[in-house]
Amino acid sequence: MKNLKILSFILLLFGCSNKNFSERPNIIFIMSDDHAVPAVSSYNGFLSNVFKTPNLDRIAKEGAIFKNAYCTNSICTPARASVLTGKYSNINGVFTLNEKISDSQNTFPKELQKTGYYTGMIGKWHLHTEPKGFDYWKVMIGQGLYHNPIYCEMGKGWSPDPEDGTGVKYEGYVTDINTDFAIDFLDKRPKEKPFMMMLHYKAPHDEWEHSEKYSSLFEDIDLPEPETLYDDYSTRGYGIYENTQKIGENHTFYEEETGHLNGRAKKGAQYQTYIKKYLRCVASIDENIGRVLKYLDENNLTENTIVIYTSDQGFYLGEHGMYDKRFMYEESLQIPFLMRYPKKIKPGTINDDIISNVDFAPTILDFAGNKIPSDIQGKSFTGFFDDSINLNWRQSLYYRYWMHGAHFNIPGHYGIRTKDFKLIYFYAKGLGYSHERYYPSENWVYEGNEIKDSNDYWEMYDLINDPNELNNIYDNPNYKKIKEELKNQLFDLKKYYKDTDESFPELYTLTKKYSD
Ligand code: CA
Repeated sequence: MKNLKILSFILLLFGCSNKNFSERPNIIFIMSDDHAVPAVSSYNGFLSNVFKTPNLDRIAKEGAIFKNAYCTNSICTPARASVLTGKYSNINGVFTLNEKISDSQNTFPKELQKTGYYTGMIGKWHLHTEPKGFDYWKVMIGQGLYHNPIYCEMGKGWSPDPEDGTGVKYEGYVTDINTDFAIDFLDKRPKEKPFMMMLHYKAPHDEWEHSEKYSSLFEDIDLPEPETLYDDYSTRGYGIYENTQKIGENHTFYEEETGHLNGRAKKGAQYQTYIKKYLRCVASIDENIGRVLKYLDENNLTENTIVIYTSDQGFYLGEHGMYDKRFMYEESLQIPFLMRYPKKIKPGTINDDIISNVDFAPTILDFAGNKIPSDIQGKSFTGFFDDSINLNWRQSLYYRYWMHGAHFNIPGHYGIRTKDFKLIYFYAKGLGYSHERYYPSENWVYEGNEIKDSNDYWEMYDLINDPNELNNIYDNPNYKKIKEELKNQLFDLKKYYKDTDESFPELYTLTKKYSD
């Protein structure tokens, strides 16, 4: 009895009072850059008949697939900050591609490290400051390179510009090399501790340079087009008309192949070039995920390791005639989220609740047996996997894109998505987070960017009857009541996430009538 008391005391001391230390799961958090849902075949999107991702599908099949997972700000650096902190941009301070994440920000790797995990970060970092909360890191600091990438390694120096001699160049293709480093991390880790590894791939971010081995993939066939490739944008506000991420109009990478064409023909041809390059990059990711899963199998780690696969945000694969991201429309809002944990998640689990990237940190901490810090804005969804728990889960998502006009001429906006409807307010103001802030010392204009504040407008979609979001129903009188309800909910969410715009009088004054 006395020994038992001492053991309980020791366990309490280490913050694991109700869990055997050795049972804490290992965690591999894999995140790609700009990997859209239709390019993961288990989502059964428009490409799933021709393009297969067997290794990603294995995670879904042996674990869970989330059909309504979303990012909260569809752009690389802020999405990464939200994943790490479990907080929205307005709280973690990373609004755009430009801000540095403060060392004072708490993150889930810091929490895991404090409570006994061996933590690592491998791959694309894109957060401007030296990674903190990791026992080991080997990272590409900015966008990184597809071929012969340069990495900085913990203990060997950090520089915001790794090409100044701080970084080391590695010969080969980035997705393969990144996985080599991940497997090396797993091999060299102290085996007596649970581990948490973040494995962040550069691919399939533009400009879609694929590995030589996939050069002939889809060489001789035309791939399916998305239903909305030739969207004429009727019924929508000016933002989608005036954005400059349109295939065949602003996409300048394939002029050599398609410059002789015009209009619809040019859009179709550029789409084919683009989607083939994109999927060839994804093929390498899937192959390399297979290597990681095989390593776990061969080292008896599969059973007690949580494997998560996601992307920093979604991406347009030609839908609405676009490539890239940023808008709150489905394709750039939705992210793939697959999770395998044989001890706790039943194989073949399908979840359609609304989760977002601020939920990942608390969920991981919860599964690890950690206390979730009270200031984290996301929620743990481990309860979804326990039949004895009836989780009282959120019914709506709050989203905000801050970089007004900074890239591709897309207005600043925020909105709400429920299971059935979406309401977006394009406030179209820079608020100090626009192009001028992003390039403060450069008079750099990207393909006709308009950096001025513009007129605000709303869009609303009935996602059940119009899942492609082609028919803006904001002014449709049949939806008046629902519209008002959504507006109230939207401003309740803004209060809940402390994103109420008091510090931006030009916007606060404009919206005060809704928020009162
Ligand atoms: Ca990205």
